[in-house]
Amino acid sequence: MYSYFRFLAIFIITFGHGVRTEEDNYSVYEGYKLIEVTPQNTLQSSILGYFQKQQHKIPSVNFLSSTKLPNVPNLLLVPPESEIELQTVLRSSKIPFKIVNNDLVTSIRAERSENSRRRSPTGIDFESYRRFDEISGYLEDLSKKYPQQAKLIPVGKSFEGRQMNALRITDSSEGRSDKKVIFIDAGIHAREWIAPATALFVIHQLVENFDSNRDLLKDYDWVILPVVNPDGYEYSHTKERFWRKTRKPNSFACVGTDANRNFDFHWGETGASNYACAETYRGPKAFSEPETEALKKVLESFEGNCKMYLSLHSYGNYLLYPWGYESTLPPTWQDLDEISMAGANAIKNATGTEYTVGSSTNVLYAAAGASDDYAFGPLKIPVSITMELSGAGSGGFDPPASKIKPFVEEAWIGIKAMAEAVSKKY
Ligand SMILES: [Zn+2]
Repeated sequence: MYSYFRFLAIFIITFGHGVRTEEDNYSVYEGYKLIEVTPQNTLQSSILGYFQKQQHKIPSVNFLSSTKLPNVPNLLLVPPESEIELQTVLRSSKIPFKIVNNDLVTSIRAERSENSRRRSPTGIDFESYRRFDEISGYLEDLSKKYPQQAKLIPVGKSFEGRQMNALRITDSSEGRSDKKVIFIDAGIHAREWIAPATALFVIHQLVENFDSNRDLLKDYDWVILPVVNPDGYEYSHTKERFWRKTRKPNSFACVGTDANRNFDFHWGETGASNYACAETYRGPKAFSEPETEALKKVLESFEGNCKMYLSLHSYGNYLLYPWGYESTLPPTWQDLDEISMAGANAIKNATGTEYTVGSSTNVLYAAAGASDDYAFGPLKIPVSITMELSGAGSGGFDPPASKIKPFVEEAWIGIKAMAEAVSKKY
């Protein structure tokens, strides 16, 4: 018996995942293609929607970007099992499409090798994407190097036991403890790697480039949680590049919940799926995930003091405000619009990149149970904004490592402008 298991173990190590390099872990995407589909009218959109409703199938067509609007391209990640059916339906319904990537796994491997080549051993330099333990290490290092300015806030543990820390940044020379708070998070969706990179750049600016940015810390402390979904983030680095959800198993075969549909405000309504295998699965109940519970608790600890909640996502260049659960605008929508426009205009003037501003439901689609609605609704944070950063690379979630620096610098211009507008108004 023992030797049988030993043989089995050797077999698995030799022929299974054990012999693969880190890049080869992405072999789950062998045979996958990226297909861009552009419905011309609402009928064609609803035909395409049929594939979106198949997300309980394994593997299923995965909508990397989607919109209900006609004439706007949707980007689909298509497993080999679904390709013929999809193309047949698209052709017979005369829905325009093009294959934009025929050999996805090769592109992902090339992107990962490029990332490895650019890695510097000296730490966070915005020249490559970093793993969760490196990000955590950077926060710890800053809190030791600048103990008066940067303090770690332990916010909780992920399902797989990773310690989640936020960093509270303050101008200690002021000697005040009554400051208002700007709260930023990133990485609630695992695959959106440019978002944690941007959060780190904000931290870097406020702590390591303090002299140029001290005005931003005059009346406000900044609290930044760079990775809300560390288990998913790590999984997207080692196994499935396009992983979005958390990693807690469900009662069915499928793993993970869309953490940004898991908040207890209009939970489970429009835009959130009750299929455990769907990309937008809302979870078995609100706050079923330890990561969303942790974010809720830390946000609650600043209740009354926090004036701005900014959630970083990618991609599409949007600045979105509530509501995400319905198309009606909140009574203070003009304030939200003004703050968001300050960010969009600053970016446009600096780099020419255009951000679309509006309410989540009206600009994109309804997505009930998201963190921004929860911050704005139950927690009464007066400014709550979701920033969809720039996209590039395979599937849009993989800006080449050489693009990290320009992208995070650009985002910082917008974030700074929004923070300045908030400081003036609140
Ligand atoms: Zn997202």
